[in-house]
Amino acid sequence: MTGDADTRFEWKQPYTQPPGLLVLQASGVTLTRGDDVQRVCAAEFAAGALNDEVLAAFDFRTLVEALALALPASVALLERGVPAANVGRPRVPRVFGGGRGAAWVVFILGRRVSGRALDQPFDISFEELLQLGLPAAASACLGEEQVATITRAVQQLTPLPCMCDTGCETQDQHGRTTSLIRRDHPHANVEFHVTVAQCDVCGSLWSWEVTGDSHYSYQCDARRIVSA
Ligand SMILES: [Zn+2]
Repeated sequence: MTGDADTRFEWKQPYTQPPGLLVLQASGVTLTRGDDVQRVCAAEFAAGALNDEVLAAFDFRTLVEALALALPASVALLERGVPAANVGRPRVPRVFGGGRGAAWVVFILGRRVSGRALDQPFDISFEELLQLGLPAAASACLGEEQVATITRAVQQLTPLPCMCDTGCETQDQHGRTTSLIRRDHPHANVEFHVTVAQCDVCGSLWSWEVTGDSHYSYQCDARRIVSA
């Protein structure tokens, strides 16, 4: 667009009037809304300049993603970019059972299988599950069909070097990430925070959004951040 050769990250908001475009490069941050173009350097943006305008034109998550990339520590990401999606990886569920009053629940967190059955907690590696199965008491409680579903999920994930693009909704489900930034929404009346973190294995960049309330439930969502 400007002829700059450096890597850029951009966010588009085509549904507002005028549409919004946020571009982040090593040279600075540019917010465009129709004829209105505002530009600040990365350090000014990290210090709060243009933050309210980005929040108004986009959303909290976009603001936190851009702030993460404006950190001094993110210079390498801006210079080299980040990986695109892994195509064709299976989307695998991470939570099984559970719910109010349930006798059992099982989570896949990173490369471990954790859970509880009839108040007995367990936490085993993928390898342990595939070699030895779930603890006997847990297997009996879950039943053959559920054990087979969980085992199949672990079989699909085991050969992969990392959990990117396999349907993780939380940072714990992904495992092996390094956080760049975490921000709580300043005006939310429920818990609402966004963490931007990089996969330690492949370098992919993700934002993890959590909203909700411990009395009801949480909504968790992952979004890949890509460089253009
Ligand atoms: Zn990865």
